[in-house]
Amino acid sequence: MQDLIIIGGGPAGITAGIYAARQKLNTLLITKSFGGQIAKKAVAIENYPGFEEISGSELVEKFKGHLEKQEIEIKVSEVRKVEKEGEVFIVFTGTKEKYLSKTVIIATGADPRPLEVPGEKEFIGKGVSYCVTCDGPVFKDKIIAVVGGGDTGFEAAVFMTNYAREIYILEASSKIKADQRNQEIVKKSGKVKVLTNAVLKEIKGKSFVESITYQDLKTKKIKNLKVKALFVEVGNQPATSFVKNLVDFNKNDEIKVEFETCQTKTPGLFAVGDVNVGIYKQIVTACGEGCKAALSAYRYLQKLKYKT
Ligand SMILES: Cc1cc2nc3c(=O)[nH]c(=O)nc-3n(C[C@H](O)[C@H](O)[C@H](O)COP(=O)(O)OP(=O)(O)OC[C@H]3O[C@@H](n4cnc5c(N)ncnc54)[C@H](O)[C@@H]3O)c2cc1C
Repeated sequence: MQDLIIIGGGPAGITAGIYAARQKLNTLLITKSFGGQIAKKAVAIENYPGFEEISGSELVEKFKGHLEKQEIEIKVSEVRKVEKEGEVFIVFTGTKEKYLSKTVIIATGADPRPLEVPGEKEFIGKGVSYCVTCDGPVFKDKIIAVVGGGDTGFEAAVFMTNYAREIYILEASSKIKADQRNQEIVKKSGKVKVLTNAVLKEIKGKSFVESITYQDLKTKKIKNLKVKALFVEVGNQPATSFVKNLVDFNKNDEIKVEFETCQTKTPGLFAVGDVNVGIYKQIVTACGEGCKAALSAYRYLQKLKYKT
């Protein structure tokens, strides 16, 4: 029986692990992968204190190295279900494989939100991608498109200016949401064309992506663009499917938590980082909540000890 199981190895889960080890909790961290979303980051991180500029992969290595120095157990696996029986949590990674714990921290972050347009599923890995750092370099000297006019869409376009010949950014609303700095970089590159009021309708091709169609909401006309790749950057959906019964959600499927402790409606169960209702989804906020929840788990365990 563990004192604590942490699910997720992104910034929130790793920080929770470091703090749990310092409290001498008997901890198991289960994660599908390390680093979470920052491992996919296309351009340098410039807002994590102590590092004026650091690449996503470098920061992941530093986080991971720090975690591995702690006295906690780490398992690379996917959690499929969490249940609670009496005071004990049961964490399932398979139908038979399960782990028992007195507390659990959910730090599973978020996955890319799909567009759900015809051709999207069909062309995944054949021109449709959700990870520009992973797949972008393949499209050297090609014409490509990015869907999403927020910061991640603009950052993806900035990254692709190193490879692609021409880049279109499609934004469904009339306004660009990316911050001013990203907009300036995109403009300076001279390679990027930003299309607002542009709603993607279909992705077409034979074996690989060859073109996309979109509707111009101003003119109502359907237009066609010849592109070899489409990067989807329209936000994320929280990874919460394994924990339906023990928590409450908001309309975006984010887990509701108490501000002070990050505890969910179930005593001893915490949710931190991008998976919860917090509005500001950043590395530093995810780390802060990881710390909060690990210390709250310690406090909860102390109370449990005195109760029994
Ligand atoms: C392209 C991009 C650029 C960004 N740039 C910045 C930036 O410059 N600065 C900044 O502060 N923030 C940035 N962010 C946001 C930041 O990356 C996130 O806020 C942060 O990573 C959230 O951390 P997290 O630990 O909550 O979740 P995540 O980073 O999503 O990590 C979740 C972890 O949980 C694991 N996991 C998921 N489901 C399961 C399961 N069922 N079982 C086991 N493990 C599971 C995943 O493998 C992953 O390791 C960016 C995000 C993106 C996508």
